[in-house]
Amino acid sequence: MANVPITVAHGDGIGPEIMAATLHILQEAGARLDMETIEIGEKVYLRGISAGIEPSSWESLRRTKVFLKAPITTPQGGGFKSLNVTTRKTLGLYANVRPCVAYHPYVDTKYPGMDVVIVRENEEDLYAGIEHQQTDQVVQSLKIISRPGSEKIVRYAFDYAVRNRRKKVTCFTKDNIMKLSDGLFHKVFDEIGAEYPDIEKEHWIVDIGAAKLADTPTAFDVVVMPNLYGDILSDVAAQIAGSVGLAGSANIGTGAAMFEAIHGSAPRRANQNLANPSGLLLGGVMMLVHINQADVAERVHNAWLRTMEDGIHTYDIFQEGVSKEKVGTKEFAAAVVERLGKGPEKLKPVSYQAAPKQNVTSAAKERPKAKKDLLGVDVFLHWSAGSPDDLAKALGKVSVNGVKLHMISNRGVKVWPEGMPETFCSDHWRCRYTANQANAPVSHAQIVELLGQISAQGLDFIKTENLCAFDGVRAFSLEQGE
Ligand code: NAD
Repeated sequence: MANVPITVAHGDGIGPEIMAATLHILQEAGARLDMETIEIGEKVYLRGISAGIEPSSWESLRRTKVFLKAPITTPQGGGFKSLNVTTRKTLGLYANVRPCVAYHPYVDTKYPGMDVVIVRENEEDLYAGIEHQQTDQVVQSLKIISRPGSEKIVRYAFDYAVRNRRKKVTCFTKDNIMKLSDGLFHKVFDEIGAEYPDIEKEHWIVDIGAAKLADTPTAFDVVVMPNLYGDILSDVAAQIAGSVGLAGSANIGTGAAMFEAIHGSAPRRANQNLANPSGLLLGGVMMLVHINQADVAERVHNAWLRTMEDGIHTYDIFQEGVSKEKVGTKEFAAAVVERLGKGPEKLKPVSYQAAPKQNVTSAAKERPKAKKDLLGVDVFLHWSAGSPDDLAKALGKVSVNGVKLHMISNRGVKVWPEGMPETFCSDHWRCRYTANQANAPVSHAQIVELLGQISAQGLDFIKTENLCAFDGVRAFSLEQGE
């Protein structure tokens, strides 16, 4: 079989040592790779390249579409962009996959038997980075959840479960509060889940789900989440498995993928032949599966499990009475190489070879466009000259034919008409205008006229949000108290 081109970056701190160990094991195991090396990280940042990667390196990544990356050091001080975020966004790496496994009794853990895979949406949600200060008192960060983005990640999670013979996929959202955004993610989970009748499905509200995950991780298998919850809970899951230094991670896109350890460059441990290469090695195993070298992936992973089981441990996981031999990075790699062809006797061996093929697809289904009706507009004002009734009075001078002021809210609570005097009001107001007749349409021209008149009254409008219905279904939230 032909070699597969990959791009390799040796990184900073312990990066070069753990990458050398990883590549040595992969090559001895028979990985069919053509490697291109690029430089990333500290030296590149310090040359004044704020992204930490040379423009020419993108050519290699675009060519190979497979990136095995050692950890890097982000220099102290401002102005440096996160290389991970840049790579993720540039290459469209929409899925972050992080297996969190306990290796009891060989590695200390609170949860023997824990074997959870967190599949985190990687591009959307609050990480879109669309933020604005709108008034003296209020800033806003937009949470973007798209149907295609949700479909891609949810399908990836189910396909991953099939390929890895997992039994259950759990979804975490907060759709009791964010009924539209998290509600869409949950709905897509239900729709796509229905295509996988052999996989058990469940949904948890993220707060109680997170508590359950931290308390009884053995109750979970594959867990799929929007970006922010996934960011937080993948760290929690890796930490409670007891194996932060052992966990690998994959960032998967439609066209490209990046594989790494979850830990950083641990600069204080560098150049001493101390570091544990296991996290990067297991990232490498995920890479081999991704490039259809499941045979090699299996050989490496099982030899690594045997090494763990034989008590050949680096300093970070060494336990008196449990471990047999404390070794350095190079000796650990040699121990894994020695065990190639063997598997664990007590831990569960892995098997990737006979697995059904995973579809890595963009998976967003073509859908007919819905009928969209414009039913009104929320006009947001920066205002601090009195009570809600005073604001309603000031807006009383605004008169656009066919449109009326329906309600005013502040921080999501209705304050006019019939507000409560106890409600705290900031300087950020939402004024909801709808048609005079219930559910009648409103036009762009009416909205433009409305804004013109509001401005003419000396009121500072800061943004508008159109109120729509899609196929006759209301597509905006009601206020608390509305
Ligand atoms: P870290 O993960 O590098 O190290 C924390 C501690 O964990 C280390 O002091 C060390 O004791 C231990 N450790 C981590 N990996 C180990 C290994 N493989 N073997 C043995 N011990 C290990 O976290 P940090 O100290 O917060 O960050 C150091 C640098 O790494 C920072 O510059 C940070 O920005 C960067 N970082 C990079 C990545 C990445 O490239 N993906 C991720 C996280 C942090």
